[in-house]
Amino acid sequence: MAIRPILTVPNPILKQVSKPVEAVTDDIRALMDDMLETMYDAPGIGLAAVQIGEPINVIVMDLARDGEEAAPRYFVNPEILEVDEEFVPYEEGCLSIPDVFDTVDRPKRCKITYLDYQGERVTEWAEGLYAVCIQHEMDHLKGVVFIDHLSRLKRDRAVKKVVKAEKLKATG
Ligand code: ZN
Repeated sequence: MAIRPILTVPNPILKQVSKPVEAVTDDIRALMDDMLETMYDAPGIGLAAVQIGEPINVIVMDLARDGEEAAPRYFVNPEILEVDEEFVPYEEGCLSIPDVFDTVDRPKRCKITYLDYQGERVTEWAEGLYAVCIQHEMDHLKGVVFIDHLSRLKRDRAVKKVVKAEKLKATG
């Protein structure tokens, strides 16, 4: 396993639409292992493959709270089948947009289908933080980041903040 660099906005790769995975092979599992390690190191609760420069339909997630045992989840070729009509607000953040947080409204629940780490088909309803996180990560697969749901002003401000912070990091 290896920790991989996480791309930040406005990197154009983050705007790419990810491609479906043909099969859950050992290579895909190795990528998911790297993604999980990268996500834990950041730390974050979800990561899409495109965020480490691999535009394919793969997501990892762990919603365990501090002090709880790790509970990694893996999603290959996830699809949303159905969503609630009711929307709920949640303050989101993103490893590709460090130190920016803002409220996004999303359907309260969504029914998803995906292949897991073993390549088995899983179909289930997600709700609560799980619903927020899977919708946020699946946006990444479409080239969408959470600030795209905000006003243009807020979006521009967020990108400027990230660019400035990255520049400071680069110059030490
Ligand atoms: Zn994100």
